[in-house]
Amino acid sequence: MLIEPMKASILGRVQKKGLLELHIHNLRDFSTDKWGKVDDYPFGGEAGMVLAIEPIERAINSLKAERHYDEVIFTSPDGETFKQATANSLSLMENIIILCGHYKGIDYRVREHLITREISIGDYVLTGGELAAAIITDAVARLLPGAIGDAESALSDTFQDNLLAPPIYTRPANYNGWEVPEVLLSGNQAKIDEWKLQQSLKRTEELRPDLLEE
Ligand code: SAH
Repeated sequence: MLIEPMKASILGRVQKKGLLELHIHNLRDFSTDKWGKVDDYPFGGEAGMVLAIEPIERAINSLKAERHYDEVIFTSPDGETFKQATANSLSLMENIIILCGHYKGIDYRVREHLITREISIGDYVLTGGELAAAIITDAVARLLPGAIGDAESALSDTFQDNLLAPPIYTRPANYNGWEVPEVLLSGNQAKIDEWKLQQSLKRTEELRPDLLEE
């Protein structure tokens, strides 16, 4: 679920350029059970399986023995909602562990004792934390200096200043009578910047007024 997507496109390039190192670990490698078992039945008789504490602690400890980690994140639907600001702050960190839950979840003692931060990617429930981890990784990776071409590009994206991005266009200026706003062709940078800001404000007011309140 993670290996191939992490190799593709910008995420792959960021790693090739040496801006980011990603290591994907299989919890089963940290199981002491001869079949690599990492889950067990929940106490109290709920439906579903629970990831056990031992392989998780062994995995986290073996990583921590190699380097310092700024954050040990657990992906969880009841965590803080992942936002651009979360991505910004994670992008400044040196090393991060992201633990992916599965099945019904993980033994709660992991969350109480080993996890420093819990992140949800939205109010819905996934089968596992892998796709959530991929989303967090992707959003963080594109913020690393040098990751995307134009250094300013990431800063002008939607949410960076709690504003939605203005509309963008490319050639041709007239496509079957559908025209690009004239100001963008004017060459007057001050006017263009003003137009962009007005468009951002207008779109945010219309589509996401909650962002302006923030
Ligand atoms: N029983 C849990 C859900 C388990 S879903 C509950 O009610 O909260 C299995 C795993 O998928 C979770 O442990 C978590 O790691 C991951 N997951 C599911 N939804 C997620 C979300 N919205 N954000 C981040 N991780 C999520």
